[in-house]
Amino acid sequence: MAFPDFANVVIVGAGIHGLSSAWRLAEIAHEKGKQVDGQIVVLDKSGIGSGASGIACGVIRNNYYQPAMRELMAHSVNVWESDPEAFSYHGVGYLQISCEAMRADVSKIFEEQRNIGYESDFIEGENACTSYMRGFFGDWQAKGITSILHEKRGGYSNNTRALYGLAKKAEDLGVRIITGVEVKGFESNNSTGAVAAVETDRGKINCDQVIIAAGPWVRDFWTMLDLPEKISIKTDEGDLRDNIDMWRFWQLEEGLLSINPDQLLTNDGKIPPVLHVDTDAPLFSDADGSLITDKLWGIYYKPDWHFNGIQGGSAPYKVETPVSEVQIDPYGPSSPEFVSGPEFAHMWVSALAHCHSRFQNHIKYYNREPSGGIGCFTADSFPVFDSFRENAYVIADSNHGWKMLGVGRLVAEEITGKSQSLLEPFRFSRFEKGKLHPTSNSPFPWS
Ligand SMILES: Cc1cc2nc3c(=O)[nH]c(=O)nc-3n(C[C@H](O)[C@H](O)[C@H](O)COP(=O)(O)OP(=O)(O)OC[C@H]3O[C@@H](n4cnc5c(N)ncnc54)[C@H](O)[C@@H]3O)c2cc1C
Repeated sequence: MAFPDFANVVIVGAGIHGLSSAWRLAEIAHEKGKQVDGQIVVLDKSGIGSGASGIACGVIRNNYYQPAMRELMAHSVNVWESDPEAFSYHGVGYLQISCEAMRADVSKIFEEQRNIGYESDFIEGENACTSYMRGFFGDWQAKGITSILHEKRGGYSNNTRALYGLAKKAEDLGVRIITGVEVKGFESNNSTGAVAAVETDRGKINCDQVIIAAGPWVRDFWTMLDLPEKISIKTDEGDLRDNIDMWRFWQLEEGLLSINPDQLLTNDGKIPPVLHVDTDAPLFSDADGSLITDKLWGIYYKPDWHFNGIQGGSAPYKVETPVSEVQIDPYGPSSPEFVSGPEFAHMWVSALAHCHSRFQNHIKYYNREPSGGIGCFTADSFPVFDSFRENAYVIADSNHGWKMLGVGRLVAEEITGKSQSLLEPFRFSRFEKGKLHPTSNSPFPWS
């Protein structure tokens, strides 16, 4: 098939957001009685799932301290639940297991989940938490846990299977996905500044609308759109802080214990909820008994039959390289620089052993193949979903985004004329207006 020279909508990136936007746009066209016939084009310089979506751990939860994030996640969980098979979605639920320092924050999340009708239980007190966890796992042994939020919905999905399920839905409705095409820049309309064409290494595609869903590469597209690398942020106190980097990179630390995933089934042989533990209990090495940390630490994990083992991660670390110099390619496990190292393995497996006696002496089962990858975060670590230059919609999820399957659908609605209140708190203008999201006591930049 010839390379197109025109499309109504060009979407950059065949990850979770690019594909889900394409899917909903095509549905809307059909609802209006129009044929899509390749007029919605998704371009990817590599292939489907070659960015963050293809390496995501796949955890889907609602547990967010920020009301706007929670509402968006509740919407997204509805989409995951709409076709579990196509999205390879496992609605096993999610456990946020926390120490005292986080109890008040998590209790607030529980209250607000009740207000939006998102089903969860909240368990408080050390003894009650221990017995709740021992109801799942007889060998639970973490000390100092004083609250558990048990979300009954959410869970995880298998990354590449879900992406191919999504791609099929879009292609069945006439979307054209073209891989191996690199977007190099944009041609502007001289009078309005709107994007008139997308320039690629295979030629130019004139278009009416662009959606940029480029994951960690958003930094480069921001530059292509002539948007500011440094921004001003109005604080809660009303002061203006200038010269703040719009983007920053964090390394997501994830890995795999190569054992039979069945070893983390519950006492009654079921798949457990995804587990997330945040605690300030001292963490000791399971290899030599030395102290790893006595500060707040966190891990998450799940048995996973797609990765074939116990898969999970810990808190990310900030990449200190100046933003403009960070080498994003080669990405993920292929990166020579940004992969999870032995320190992560030591900490994460020791933390698993801190929680369950079954994982003691398990460091030898840690899978040494490269894993993890970088994410591009905004200045306040929350997403920006907004339109620039009239017709260039940027989906910058600040690395929150595998779980946000519903965002592309909302973006498609906005582009076709229906403004979405769920996206409103994520406009770029929030920085200068000081309409920032509240921050929590979690050790993770995304909670
Ligand atoms: C290790 C890791 C684990 C994670 N785990 C979770 C999790 O458990 N739960 C969760 O909710 N989130 C998780 N995330 C975050 C989540 O993966 C991302 O937020 C989300 O996948 C981003 O999706 P995207 O569609 O915006 O971008 P991506 O999936 O990164 O897709 C962007 C695409 O754009 C393409 N592209 C880039 N530049 C160009 C160009 N110039 N021309 C053409 N194409 C281009 C790339 O090839 C890529 O395929 C994780 C992230 C990482 C790194």
